[in-house]
Amino acid sequence: MKTFEFEHATTVEGAVDRVVATGGKYYAGGTNLLDLMKGGVEAPTALVDVRRLGLRDVTATESGGVLIGSGVTNSALANHPLIRSRYPVLSQAILSGATTQLRNMATAGGNLMQRTRCPYFMETAFAQCNKRNPGSGCAAKDGFNREHALFGASESCVAIHPSDMAVALAILDATVHVHGPDGRRDVPIAEFFRLPGDEPQRDNTLRTAEFIVGIELPPSPFAEHSWYLKVRDRHSYAFALVSVAAGLRVEDGVISAAAVALGGVAPMPWRVAEAEAGLIGQPPTVAVFRAAAERIMAGAQPLGQNGFKVDLGKHSVVRAMSTALRVT
Ligand code: SF4
Repeated sequence: MKTFEFEHATTVEGAVDRVVATGGKYYAGGTNLLDLMKGGVEAPTALVDVRRLGLRDVTATESGGVLIGSGVTNSALANHPLIRSRYPVLSQAILSGATTQLRNMATAGGNLMQRTRCPYFMETAFAQCNKRNPGSGCAAKDGFNREHALFGASESCVAIHPSDMAVALAILDATVHVHGPDGRRDVPIAEFFRLPGDEPQRDNTLRTAEFIVGIELPPSPFAEHSWYLKVRDRHSYAFALVSVAAGLRVEDGVISAAAVALGGVAPMPWRVAEAEAGLIGQPPTVAVFRAAAERIMAGAQPLGQNGFKVDLGKHSVVRAMSTALRVT
């Protein structure tokens, strides 16, 4: 690992100033960034520690939603009474990720900032990776791509985003509060991540020296009926092959609100608006869920080794929706 400066920031503005001045990176839980630095994937000249900025609260908002400080740990967030009661799908998603030790260190902001675990990205011995070394090629496209994207990939990169939390935030229509040299701005979660296109080195739409200070959730119609299903190679400490966050509301015997997001299949949580719209007014039956699953997976573009994820995705969508509504 290369040597680097380490500074503690005490104000949000001060943190931004120091990252602008040093060209460094923000440091919170460090659970992904330090791994990348040890492996030589990241080599910042400075780390600006944002753990003393007082961004560790989960508070109810006047609108009936919740504001999550970006420094709240994954453990604290998943177990917070406001999250467990109003947004159980978020709690489930967070608890399905990593390990207790990692969740005790990792933060809400860092969860969204974590980078892909594509093996060619994580290991500098591989020469080809456009995300790590722009212009070098993509070794995964014709190589090991069992865990890679079905949707949203490009010729330059076929990696997925690894966050479970982001998938739940997608169906909850979260807003990401960010702060940077031009002050504060709010980014809808649907616009926070970006597809790789020909710039796969950019995972999100943050501008230079911006960082996440909070995540706001509006009131949710899905507190009663939601589910996070994560399918993976082993039951613990593994990233999703496919995951599904499903939220449904039923009134007078028909579905009145629906949101479904997939993880493990795209560079961002993947929602298909037409499939969600097609659920409205339908009775909550397995046949209706199957039709929705077909629509969601219709645009899948499998690679050489991940074709199995198409059927897996369909079954997972049906299972998540059925479990959310306790329909068999
Ligand atoms: Fe790199 Fe993306 Fe290709 Fe993986 S899929 S090797 S991260 S460019």
